[in-house]
Amino acid sequence: MTSPIWHPFTQHGLREPIPTVVRAEGAALYTADGRRVIDAISSWWVTTHGHREPRIMAAIADQAARMDQIIFAGWTHAPAEAVAAGLLRLMPDALTRVFFSDSGSTAVEVALKMALGYWLNRGEPRHRILVLDHGYHGDTIGTMSVGARGAFNRAYEPLLFDVATIPFPAAGAEQATLDALEAACRQAPAALIVEPLVCGAGGMLTYPARVLAAMRAICADHDVLFVADEVMTGWGRTGTLLACEQAGVVPDILCLSKGLTGGAVPLAVTMASEAIYQAHLSQDRARMFFHSSSYTANPIACAAAAANIAIWEDEPVPDRVADLSARQAVRAAALAGVRNVRTLGTIAAMDLGPDGADYLSALGPALLAFFRERDLLLRPLGNTVYVMPPYCITDTDLDAVYAAIGEAAVRFG
Ligand SMILES: *Cc1c(COP(=O)(O)O)cnc(C)c1O
Repeated sequence: MTSPIWHPFTQHGLREPIPTVVRAEGAALYTADGRRVIDAISSWWVTTHGHREPRIMAAIADQAARMDQIIFAGWTHAPAEAVAAGLLRLMPDALTRVFFSDSGSTAVEVALKMALGYWLNRGEPRHRILVLDHGYHGDTIGTMSVGARGAFNRAYEPLLFDVATIPFPAAGAEQATLDALEAACRQAPAALIVEPLVCGAGGMLTYPARVLAAMRAICADHDVLFVADEVMTGWGRTGTLLACEQAGVVPDILCLSKGLTGGAVPLAVTMASEAIYQAHLSQDRARMFFHSSSYTANPIACAAAAANIAIWEDEPVPDRVADLSARQAVRAAALAGVRNVRTLGTIAAMDLGPDGADYLSALGPALLAFFRERDLLLRPLGNTVYVMPPYCITDTDLDAVYAAIGEAAVRFG
């Protein structure tokens, strides 16, 4: 009997095995056929502290005993207020407003709508969005429009809106990026959206903090809104709570999701500066912010996020992040037979096989199978292998991950 489920980013025609997971704990997934699989990519970048973090699980259970979903338009509840208050304590002071949604994609859609609303309500309509090449911001039509074009979205291309694409600040070509941004900013665009310090889905491509800081400064000089999509980079992933911190950058709009609940349940927020909120504030209902999704600020998800914030506030999470970052860096540096090793906080990435292979290169499925056979959850992006584990991963598990990558480098190198 085959399952009726149509899986995401899965070519069912290849009939690759789809393991059934029955339990998750820490950095491990346990399958129905009795295997223990090391989750080396944090279940697609969401799990920060570890699977089934006890305080987050307890908060979910406790909240489920009190209140399930309630409407959030014109109503509120304690878990959402706790998350908003916590975010104001943790995040940059200039971000004074918190808008809830339910995924990274919606957090970005909300950010784009806020930016356009800001300009329209100021009586100076602007709609052009500037984007960084190799960017990824989600899989909805709007977020695909601001992301890199390629095999992922060829079928939908006619529906994607026009953006101005700034070249990625590759090593040695940073000035070209800044010059292109400066030129594009003179056309009075609404906003620039970037993944700070690392383009994730684009291939774990890193760029220096000073370039991020320079991009932010150019936007500020030209009165162009700066949107930081920290959906992947937020919550310690790059070594600091936010990647923007490393560049001393405070965005006008900040998108958070994935690790917001420690990766336990779906939730997202878009934080905005007071100026953006004020532009929508009026006696005129036509100027309100027209966005909601059914599960906006779901109380159970908010309870999980509040627990995550409490963990960041009372446990040495930065030490755990620093420790994992160091443990990753030594292992990545010791790998033989891989190219272009880059590490950024808890993320380590390296390229295997021939230079220039793309996402759909034959190496991808071969690597996926290779790691699957070794009970490792690694999901290469084309020929880029990256390790992005939960912060609690042990040395033993990390050694097993790197031993397999070393083996893969020999096999496929
Ligand atoms: C994952 C991701 C998104 C999309 O988040 P979803 O929850 O999958 O919709 C957006 N931006 C970045 C940078 C991401 O990594």
